[in-house]
Amino acid sequence: MSHRVLISDLLSKPGSSRKESGAIRLDIDLTNAGVHGDAGFEATLRSLSDGLVARGDATVFADLTCNRCLEVNTEALEVPFEQVYRHEPQDEDDEMRIERGTWIDLEPAVHDEVTLSLPIVPVCTPDCLGLCPTCGANLNSDPCGGHEDETDSPFAALKDLFDT
Ligand SMILES: [Zn+2]
Ligand SMILES: [Zn+2]
Repeated sequence: MSHRVLISDLLSKPGSSRKESGAIRLDIDLTNAGVHGDAGFEATLRSLSDGLVARGDATVFADLTCNRCLEVNTEALEVPFEQVYRHEPQDEDDEMRIERGTWIDLEPAVHDEVTLSLPIVPVCTPDCLGLCPTCGANLNSDPCGGHEDETDSPFAALKDLFDT
């Protein structure tokens, strides 16, 4: 979804600026991270001699799946963004077009920065214990005992035989 802002007032006065704030609906799905909802943002729009630059911060709530224990946690992220808009973009990768000389779309800039800011390999806490490789229990909340004490198992006795 686009988030259009009228900027004809700024373009008629080069060097002028004003604040813009609001919310942008985002739907981002990565393997272990996602954002589904409104990103609140505050930005400063400043007109250039031949365009406009938008600089601001967006706040999103990201659903992060821990890479070790697979728990999903919601985390607030503050994401700075900056985007240059021109009537005729010189670099289509870095610059966006001012549409019809009157408005810009803030959504792609916020969407891209938020996507880049999501962790590729999220962990719920740096010392997350993860899942037991044998029974799959979440070791953070449900420490399993049984099979961890190998000396009690019949296989341990066999292993002793072969070790000697
Ligand atoms: Zn975890
Ligand atoms: Zn276990």
